[in-house]
Amino acid sequence: MKQLGHLYIVSAPSGAGKTSLVKALLERDAQVVVSVSHTTRPRREGEIDGVDYNFVTPEQFETKIENGQFLEYAEVFGNKYGTSQVWVQEQLEKGLDVILEIDWQGAEQVRRLMPEARSIFILPPSREVLERRLRGRGTDTEEVIQRRLSKTVSEISHYGEFDYLIINDDFATALADLASLFRSARLTQKMQQQRHEALLAALLSKL
Ligand code: 5GP
Repeated sequence: MKQLGHLYIVSAPSGAGKTSLVKALLERDAQVVVSVSHTTRPRREGEIDGVDYNFVTPEQFETKIENGQFLEYAEVFGNKYGTSQVWVQEQLEKGLDVILEIDWQGAEQVRRLMPEARSIFILPPSREVLERRLRGRGTDTEEVIQRRLSKTVSEISHYGEFDYLIINDDFATALADLASLFRSARLTQKMQQQRHEALLAALLSKL
């Protein structure tokens, strides 16, 4: 049977640089895909429907919940976000590694359903940098920024539930750290045995 891909949960407080890191990883690793979540949040300038998120109405979101289409879903900052169960399963069956960029509440649900998932928490190097990054994006109102800042501490308090912590101080270092997790998971004996079946058979053949 073909080896399944691995499932990764990537969470972070807003402004930790999670989305940029994931984007950069996708560019250098063709075996990794990221799940495009459904959300009821209004589209921000520059965001593309179907690429950044699948933007849906609260009614459409409720219907998806009722139909059991979400692997997980949660309310974050007053908007709902959910991950398509079928899409994730299809990618894993293709042998691709799947990233879920979700919050700690979603991470909790996925861990319960799929305990083999590896979870990664990304942290900013300091409180000051976090605030600067939140403001730097410039797409949200001051009220939204303040609301996010006040929630940051409680989000960070969940770091202990994650398997890996990455500090996003130097971007290249954080990206290398992230990439190394994906690479090392492919080097387990179980994965390599399947990938290199012919090599192993040849090496073990009698003279
Ligand atoms: P934003 O609206 O800034 O893109 O995302 C806000 C928060 O929602 C982030 O913490 C992000 O990780 C989280 N989020 C995005 N998609 C999902 C999802 O499908 N499920 C859950 N549980 N959280 C999500």
